[in-house]
Amino acid sequence: MATVGFIGLGNMGGPMAVNLIKAGHQVKGFDLSQPAIASFTENGGNSVASAQDAARDVDIVITMLPAGAHVRAVYLADGGVVETARAGTTFIDCSTIDVQTARDVAQAAADAGLDMVDAPVSGGVAGAAGATLTFMVGGSEAGFAKAQPILEAMGKNIVHAGDAGNGQAAKICNNMILGISMIGVCEAFVLAEKLGLDHQKLFDISSTASGQCWSLTSYCPVPGPVETAPSNRDYKPGFSAAMMLKDLKLAQEAAQGTGAPTPLGAQATAIYSLFDAAGHAQTDFSGIIRFLRGES
Ligand code: NAD
Repeated sequence: MATVGFIGLGNMGGPMAVNLIKAGHQVKGFDLSQPAIASFTENGGNSVASAQDAARDVDIVITMLPAGAHVRAVYLADGGVVETARAGTTFIDCSTIDVQTARDVAQAAADAGLDMVDAPVSGGVAGAAGATLTFMVGGSEAGFAKAQPILEAMGKNIVHAGDAGNGQAAKICNNMILGISMIGVCEAFVLAEKLGLDHQKLFDISSTASGQCWSLTSYCPVPGPVETAPSNRDYKPGFSAAMMLKDLKLAQEAAQGTGAPTPLGAQATAIYSLFDAAGHAQTDFSGIIRFLRGES
């Protein structure tokens, strides 16, 4: 069993850290938020006073933070965890951040002789609680080999996507497909409504025809056809529009940085920006169908 420092005990990090404890690992946790720490300790966690304390004398440091700026600060600031960790520590950043920051921080860790992988997740809060997350991992073979047994206590699908930053690359490419496909499925249902075609009929036909995709068959944006979809719970997330917009913006940033043409990704970003600005940041991202219909 490993000793782990866990930094960022929010909606995702909190339950992930608790699953490590349940699997028998020794976990020291830190967060800036008192409620996050309280929830961690109520679930058997041992809290420490700083990120540095979490990173000191452990085998593994895991971070689960909001964005790239937080990751840079925690790892690279004066007295950051790259300086604090002992030789042999492996860093695992599970936050969803920009590819360039992931690569910069991994390089700084490598310069200090430490392994680091980026390991963003898919599966949301339910996957974090149930230890069923998918991890998309970027980093060396050696880093992946050290991270894998730890990630297995928090998820069920762990994929090595290539070198540093490729976990983040996989995440934003996947979520760009998801954002675009959700808008496409919603547009088809709105057109069907105008044409007098029943929701269930369109679902039954397209889910077994060439329009088939996850946004339709697993997360159908109209109530009825898929019982577990947020459309049956008044579009409570699930995966919020704010999270979708964050990932689409990261994809656009990467597209601009590399010169990749992503006209539909840009359009999806613009549509989710409007939805977000109209007060729907905390609505499930499939609620975009209401926006396309012109509902408030
Ligand atoms: P969250 O806001 O609930 O948690 C982030 C935590 O980090 C907060 O508790 C915050 O206090 C803490 N934090 C910020 N700066 C810190 C610092 N310097 N030191 C210590 N703690 C610090 O967010 P979340 O929903 O848990 O998401 C975390 C990451 O996972 C994000 O990058 C997000 O994009 C990604 N993600 C979230 C979901 C989801 O469904 N919530 C799904 C997939 C990926």
